[in-house]
Amino acid sequence: MQNLLELDRDGLIQVLAKWGQPSFRARQILTWVFQRHVTDFSEMTDLPLSLRERLMAEMRVGSLSLAHQRRSRDGTSKRVYRLDDGQLIETVLMHYRDGRRSACISTQAGCALGCIFCATGQMGFARHLSAAEIVEQALLLAQDLARRGERLSNVVLMGMGEPFHNYDESLKAVRRLMDDLGVGARHITISTVGLVPQIRRFADEGLQVRLAVSLHAATDEDRSDLLPVNRRWPLRELMAACRHYVRKTGRRITFEWALIRGETDTMEQAHALGRLLQGLLCHVNAIPLNPTADYAGSPSGSEEVERFVSILADYGIRTTVRVRRGIDIDAGCGQLRAAVQSNEVNSDAL
Ligand code: SAH
Ligand code: SF4
Repeated sequence: MQNLLELDRDGLIQVLAKWGQPSFRARQILTWVFQRHVTDFSEMTDLPLSLRERLMAEMRVGSLSLAHQRRSRDGTSKRVYRLDDGQLIETVLMHYRDGRRSACISTQAGCALGCIFCATGQMGFARHLSAAEIVEQALLLAQDLARRGERLSNVVLMGMGEPFHNYDESLKAVRRLMDDLGVGARHITISTVGLVPQIRRFADEGLQVRLAVSLHAATDEDRSDLLPVNRRWPLRELMAACRHYVRKTGRRITFEWALIRGETDTMEQAHALGRLLQGLLCHVNAIPLNPTADYAGSPSGSEEVERFVSILADYGIRTTVRVRRGIDIDAGCGQLRAAVQSNEVNSDAL
């Protein structure tokens, strides 16, 4: 059966044309799915009955099945979905007090980049997700929110996987989040570990989507130890690509920084980071490390966090320290999937 989400608007128009249907039917169907959150063709009452029946016989909406769900005390909820080939991926919904509802979605099953503190990196790479599989994660959350009278306001591509390693499908998905689901470009963020050619390509896309770069260390020696990709694209090349992005787009970059006790929270690292970023239109998002199974490091204490933030302030760099959301439900990148996989949590308990 054809998955409707695998078709973009033009693709759907083509299928409908073969069925002798006018092109405006595509808009009607996409409005039902993305705006009214109806995925049962029989309920699409403005379509002719014969078309509804043909759609029911030949198409389905989506391919993800829920394998596990957990809700945290802070309102964060996390889901593990099974793809049609059995791969597991994670999606997180974050509730903010100001009313924002943000989806954190995956772009790959696993990840090939091998950052040593990351649970997804530790499990290795399985496969890329299609644009449909990426979009469906956000669509399912939007549907659930709509049932409660709420709206999905933000989407971050910060779940499992490296979006720029799966560049074309990730960008296709971003365009559909904007065009079909109606999420504003400025409310979408792509996070990359620092794939230089793709950062340059992204700068030229002419999109208003936000960019986050996972930096985590400000010297090549330290960064290469944490993020093996730094050996391929060291800081000099990465920062040149980031400056190109800012020049080209006029947009601020967010640099992600995991605060690891004694490693990335030292005065030396803070000063090195200050020098690296000074004068660049940017912002630092620091987050105390989420401990993972195969990495011995631990999160920084509050004194080190404060010292880090104040050193950066001396360089004129604004830093926000993110609270670790959903810490009680393994909501760190790749952690819940790892737990479901190892049967630590009962994958049938919904
Ligand atoms: N692959 C992309 C996006 C997914 S990871 C990237 O690396 O940017 C989203 C963010 O979570 C990245 O900044 C990543 O470095 C960070 N992260 C991964 N594991 C973490 C952990 N154990 N503690 C804190 N941050 C972590
Ligand atoms: Fe992949 Fe990002 Fe995890 Fe690195 S931090 S292993 S790039 S998902």
